Amino acid sequence: MIKVVKFGGSSLASAKQFKKVGDIIRADKSRRYVIPSAPGKRDSKDTKVTDLLYQCYDAIEAGKSYGKIFQAIKDRYNQIIEGLGLNFSLDYEFKTIEENFLAKKGREYAASRGEYLNGIVMSHYLGYEFIDAADVISFGKDGRFQQDKTDAELGLRLGTVERAVIPGFYGADEDGNIHTFTRGGSDVTGSIVARAAHADIYENWTDVSGFLVSDPRIVPNPIPIDLITYRELRELSYMGASVLHEDAIFPVRKEGIPIHILNTNRPQDPGTMIVENTCRRPKYTITGVAGKKGFCSITIEKAMMNSEIGFCAKVLEVFEREGLSIEHMPSGIDTMTVFIHQDEFMQHEQAVISGIHRAVHPDAIELESGLALVAVVGRGMKSARGTAGRIFSALAHARVNVKMIDQGSSELNIIVGMKNEDFEPAVRAIYDIFINTAL
Ligand code: ASP
Repeated sequence: MIKVVKFGGSSLASAKQFKKVGDIIRADKSRRYVIPSAPGKRDSKDTKVTDLLYQCYDAIEAGKSYGKIFQAIKDRYNQIIEGLGLNFSLDYEFKTIEENFLAKKGREYAASRGEYLNGIVMSHYLGYEFIDAADVISFGKDGRFQQDKTDAELGLRLGTVERAVIPGFYGADEDGNIHTFTRGGSDVTGSIVARAAHADIYENWTDVSGFLVSDPRIVPNPIPIDLITYRELRELSYMGASVLHEDAIFPVRKEGIPIHILNTNRPQDPGTMIVENTCRRPKYTITGVAGKKGFCSITIEKAMMNSEIGFCAKVLEVFEREGLSIEHMPSGIDTMTVFIHQDEFMQHEQAVISGIHRAVHPDAIELESGLALVAVVGRGMKSARGTAGRIFSALAHARVNVKMIDQGSSELNIIVGMKNEDFEPAVRAIYDIFINTAL
């Protein structure tokens, strides 16, 4: 059994947290490959080491003094090393990093040092070999991650080591220039390593006990999700539920490796298991309810639209030309509506309107702003009767006026559009009907 274990920044923010992580790793021999993030926040007012590194590098680039910030970074690591009672020093590494900063080695290089240094600390603490991600995670010179090359090289390298620490978040191109993933990218490294190692499971340790059925800022004490499929997760994360980096799904999904989200501070909690597929019947009809505010709708009206061949294509071309991506597109006999992110639409508004006029000569174009979309997601909806009925009666009771309904053909989700101000009551009403008063 091989487990790849990734620990987030808050799990490694201090020596105290490191000790919890050490206990977790030592408790299971199959936890062979460890992916650390950089030290995160110790409390809500603290600054992540990654942010300190960006600040420090930006100060150098701007010709400002940087000594204080650099010292703060050193202090973070030295406190961890001391707190763990380890007998080694990062002084040589700090010196090299400072020189490279002054030689303007780049912002991505700067940011990556958080994980690099934490990886060294972790390898000393665990007694595991250290593999620099720059040697095994390949990027092209264009800064894009190279999956196939990495898979081959990393797979070979891992075959030669029983246990290793591989820092998250970065890799390098063939000239040795460092590139990073987007923020939170250590999740992606963990997934890449799990794939290359043919791991049985990818454990992602964080500071929450997995995914919740809904956002706790909207629904008080939502219940956790014990099992979710990759497809359900995609739907929910797209609609705003965030625990895991979006790109972390793809490498392991291709290999059918499950991701287990776990809490470093509460390792006894079951967490959330993310799987490719399952025949385990879900306890509730819905797996989650999430959503986002800030959409607008563009409704195009034209008599006999349905018989005009190529009508939709012409309208969509206008959006394409403006570089706008479309969220949803419900249609009627003489109308078609396009939902789009309001802030993206704003600066293209007039170009879109005139483009549509020119392309299809509509009878009218109506715009509505301040809309929210709520996604009700669940593999259980396919086999449950009356799901839509329950959603809409719950919304009616909550006095929410439904503006749009869109059920995906996979019956995995139902998207409901409404005014921004109805968003929170709608999410609460749907949670209530499916979870609190579940049949
Ligand atoms: N340290 C990086 C960040 O703060 C990457 C990570 O934590 O996953 O975004």
